[in-house]
Amino acid sequence: MQYIKFLILAIRVRQRTDLYQTNFMKPSFHSYLANDPFQDPVLLVDFQFTRRALLFDAGDLRQVPSRILLRVTDLFISHRHMDHFADFDRLIRLNLGRGKCLRVYGPEGIIAGVAAKLSAYNWNLVSNYTEAIEIEVIEMISEQTVNRALFHCQNEFRLQPHQSQSIDDKMVLSDTSIQVRATILDHGLPCLGFSIQEPMHVNIWKNRLMEMDLEVGPWLTLLKQAVMMNAPDETPIQVQRSNDSTLIETMPLKVLKEKIVKIVPGQHIGYLVDVSFNDENLHRLLPLFHNADHLYIEAPFLHRDLDHAIRKRHLTAKQAGTIAKLASVKSFTLCHFSPRYAADASLLQQEAEEAFDSTKS
Ligand SMILES: [Zn+2]
Ligand SMILES: [Zn+2]
Repeated sequence: MQYIKFLILAIRVRQRTDLYQTNFMKPSFHSYLANDPFQDPVLLVDFQFTRRALLFDAGDLRQVPSRILLRVTDLFISHRHMDHFADFDRLIRLNLGRGKCLRVYGPEGIIAGVAAKLSAYNWNLVSNYTEAIEIEVIEMISEQTVNRALFHCQNEFRLQPHQSQSIDDKMVLSDTSIQVRATILDHGLPCLGFSIQEPMHVNIWKNRLMEMDLEVGPWLTLLKQAVMMNAPDETPIQVQRSNDSTLIETMPLKVLKEKIVKIVPGQHIGYLVDVSFNDENLHRLLPLFHNADHLYIEAPFLHRDLDHAIRKRHLTAKQAGTIAKLASVKSFTLCHFSPRYAADASLLQQEAEEAFDSTKS
């Protein structure tokens, strides 16, 4: 449903002919839960224009086709309960001879957990693969620090000494296609919540370009880069005139931003499972998901079973709807339902929606 909404938006945008390179406004990925809400939560973020996918949790991956698991570049493990980590082996087995680097992100203990899984097998017959997998594990030990450890197939996946690295703004992954931020939450143990965001789209108004006697050319790429990097307003940008291509002229970034640039925020989604509803968790997670386009959020229990939810350190559906509202997300999808509600799953949805609507300002 969420994907369809974005498609409609992209089609509407395409109908406007005065924007230069409008295809940049299409979302670069679509996201969906791989499993039924009563099964293990598994979120896929699948890129549209490249063979790449991000995978959030790996409890039961049997429903995920091999062709998608083969394009996973980054695996995010919220925590190491079995329903989130059991099928790590399936992912590794499939990618073993693929000559790729798989990055695995998780909370404190993930390096030891991956090392333990890998050390359970013998690797003597695959360690001479020419195209072998390398696994880099990024362990979030605080919101400012990660540990990084590498496991090479050629080295029979023995744990190497690892390094600490500081991070900014909870950012565990940042490249030209995607930014993933994580926060450490309480589930009786550290559990990560994730925010997934595309970089902003920078578009050029072609009609205004013509009005200013400016020509389409490589200088626009440099202009876009300056905008994306948040360069100072006074930064001089070398422009190209339509009537004289030999003329060297610069204009301040501020002027160009005001007159010919249109900035469209990138798609922003959140993934939140296995957390207690308490002030400390809310304080950490609400800013992470603020104004997200979509939130995937657990709702294992009805609020009538609040005592049980508290004991299990999970959310009720009412609490899930409340979080979605407090974070001002545009829409949400529930997951991780307890099997005790197999006959009345609609009650969970209804309870979350009522909380989302009733607390609306
Ligand atoms: Zn769980
Ligand atoms: Zn759990």
